[in-house]
Amino acid sequence: MSNQFDIAVLGAGPGGYVAAIRAAQLGFKVVCIDNFKNIKGRASLGGTCLNVGCIPSKALLESSENYERVTHKFGAHGITVTDARIDLATMLGRKDKIVEQFTGGIAGLFRKNKVTSMHGTGRVLAAATAGCTVEVRAGDKLETLEAKHVIIATGSAPRALPFSPFDNDLILDNAGALALSSVPKRLGVIGAGVIGLEMGSVWRRLGSKVTILEALPAFLMAADEAVAKEALKIFTKDGLEIRTNVKVTGIEKVDGHVSVTLEDGANAQSIDFDRLIVAVGRMPNTEALAADTAGLKLDARGFIEVDAHCRTNLPNVYAIGDVVRGPMLAHKASEEGVAVAESIAGQASHVNLDHVPWVIYTSPEIAWVGRTEQSLREAGIKYRAGQFPFMANGRARALGESAGFVKILADAGNDRVLGVHIIGAFASELISEAVVAMEFDASAEDIARIVHAHPSLSEVMHEAALAVDKRTLHI
Ligand code: FAD
Ligand code: NAD
Repeated sequence: MSNQFDIAVLGAGPGGYVAAIRAAQLGFKVVCIDNFKNIKGRASLGGTCLNVGCIPSKALLESSENYERVTHKFGAHGITVTDARIDLATMLGRKDKIVEQFTGGIAGLFRKNKVTSMHGTGRVLAAATAGCTVEVRAGDKLETLEAKHVIIATGSAPRALPFSPFDNDLILDNAGALALSSVPKRLGVIGAGVIGLEMGSVWRRLGSKVTILEALPAFLMAADEAVAKEALKIFTKDGLEIRTNVKVTGIEKVDGHVSVTLEDGANAQSIDFDRLIVAVGRMPNTEALAADTAGLKLDARGFIEVDAHCRTNLPNVYAIGDVVRGPMLAHKASEEGVAVAESIAGQASHVNLDHVPWVIYTSPEIAWVGRTEQSLREAGIKYRAGQFPFMANGRARALGESAGFVKILADAGNDRVLGVHIIGAFASELISEAVVAMEFDASAEDIARIVHAHPSLSEVMHEAALAVDKRTLHI
């Protein structure tokens, strides 16, 4: 193998593998270097997202939701299922098979696009306008490559609490939370963020008594306040115990279980769990990059510092995805990968971070794009809000999924859509209309004038747009 490339990509997650494929499509000679090993100790492409993130979590969310449907929802349709049982090994096996299909699929895409794939840990040794030198370490083997450009897409890793390292037996990170071989009776979750809610939902549906401990004073503060309030009501009714304003002061492993000590207002107490998931955010993977020796600048929080075009301070070195500022989301990482590959090819390309959609795959799902009502209020921006419930939608009623609403926030002056917030069935799919609308600077009136199919959940978006002008038709 020649060690001369146009582009070396470090990391094969959704940022890196997409950047590599797009760069190869544009005619570059590309190498993608990745160090991920799966639970069997095998190299596996796809990064966090495909191996231990987006894809396996969604597989388990669907399986556990099916169990919940059978045990709690089918009765209303006149369907009685007796003796519904969980075969956890089969459920986990299905998830693993989906992961293998997709990670193997990336190897195939690399072959198809002639991307050279290398297993190992890469770092930039030197960077200049003439080109860069990259070192790749795999066990005792050390290789150097020359590449005109480098794209760093090394992603992120789970953050442990200082007093409790992960052991993935009793104290679990995301990988451990996706691979429990039995359903714990009492499951503790620290952090009521995206992972805490998704994984907490999975194991609650499968039979765990789940308690989520959140440090912040209110629930889901990143979401719109009305959505957060509705979500808390529904999740609590479904059996998740969510405690906010909790300070976890200690975690101890005692006789095969975990004892968590906490302060809750004035009270100190301890709670015992059979397993504990710690999901308190993620840290950028920069350790192996030896940023200081290479002169790569990190920001105050340890992320690689980049400009609006993902350029680092080093010539010809870019960084994308979880390892840089912005939301830690797979689609954001991928779009940055495409934009960087295209800008290296001299094309004009950029990612609008203001219009990146968020989805939380709970039941009901939560999705949003743009500004929240509280952030508009705080910024003193005048807006009009229109809200419409799924309860009044025929398709939602037929599905038996009538919880939640769509809320549209529009500029009070020119009616431009500033934010869309959904809690309800298929929010993950419905949010795309809002993203398109915002990307094209649409007004609420524009959405109100578009013909939406009947009966469909998208009619709730239509009615919420009408509600901005106080002219809903079905309430
Ligand atoms: P990563 O996917 O983390 O990939 C980085 C890769 O680089 C890894 O393979 C890593 O091993 C490798 N690497 C690190 N350092 C080096 C090095 N020095 N040399 C070579 N290789 C290196 N996002 C969504 O949008 N939707 C979801 O539904 C979703 N669900 C999630 C569920 C869970 C449980 C978790 C943990 C995350 C989820 N995310 C989701 C977030 C998503 O996984 C990340 O935002 C996304 O994977 C980031 O992509 P990336 O390419 O930047 O990094
Ligand atoms: P998060 O930032 O979503 O949530 C972490 C939560 O933990 C926050 O509510 C925070 O206040 C709380 N917290 C922090 N320290 C704490 C402490 N000491 N005690 C109690 N609570 C504490 O992080 P996450 O859930 O770990 O997920 C990481 C990232 O992965 C997410 O931000 C998201 O970008 C990505 N992700 C996305 C999806 C999706 O798109 N559906 C799913 C999973 C993960």
